[in-house]
Amino acid sequence: MKKIIVAGNWKMNTTIQESLALINELKKIPINNEIDVIIFPPFTALHAANEAVKGSSIRCGSQTLSEYDSGAYTGEISGSMIRSIGSTITLIGHSERRHIFNESNETINKKMHQALSQSFDVMLCVGETLDERETNQTNTVLAQQLTEGLRGIEQLHNISIAYEPVWAIGTGITASPDQAEMAHTFISEHLAAAFGSSHIPPIVYGGSVSPKNISELIVQPHVDGVLVGGASLKSDSFGKIITICQTEKIAH
Ligand code: PEP
Repeated sequence: MKKIIVAGNWKMNTTIQESLALINELKKIPINNEIDVIIFPPFTALHAANEAVKGSSIRCGSQTLSEYDSGAYTGEISGSMIRSIGSTITLIGHSERRHIFNESNETINKKMHQALSQSFDVMLCVGETLDERETNQTNTVLAQQLTEGLRGIEQLHNISIAYEPVWAIGTGITASPDQAEMAHTFISEHLAAAFGSSHIPPIVYGGSVSPKNISELIVQPHVDGVLVGGASLKSDSFGKIITICQTEKIAH
């Protein structure tokens, strides 16, 4: 059985001090070995966070990375810089990077190559907007994001996929369990057709996940975990999500 992933995207929240306080609380949560807990703090707190999670099973990753190796790219953070502060996993293609910072599938693909060539594990985020869902383009958009984002990549061993419908992120509106399951099934079948069915990566759901809705989402057969934004900023809610995933998914 695949391990369940429970990941927290802290976005542009938490100072170093706030990150350390949150990690101290998270370290008190019992995490069994069926679960991978990953947090994505902001860059400024990443080094301190990596030091703070040492000795626990929590992994710390970056929220993005530069498509470039090094050089005159003011404000960018390279993969080697991120590795040098202890992270070996990164998010790529989060919807806020796509929609606020205009990252195209081509840029995302460059970042994928950059990350994989430096042996990062990558969580690639995909998802449709409300308009795309309402005009029945969900599968077309997902297929395009996967095909273009993974272009030139031969195998999926270090990759997980986060299905994050844009209309559900930070809105308090969650995809229904059926909507999530249908999208995850589509992603799984698309990847099996493109890469073979022997290694379908974990596919996690993201979009207003909370302790209230996690139970019905995590038991869906193709939901291998969750990427949590707002509710990952409080140890209480993130802890409940971890605990419910441990009990509910394993019971199924
Ligand atoms: C996210 O940032 O990836 C996310 C899913 O946010 P939220 O849980 O707040 O919707």
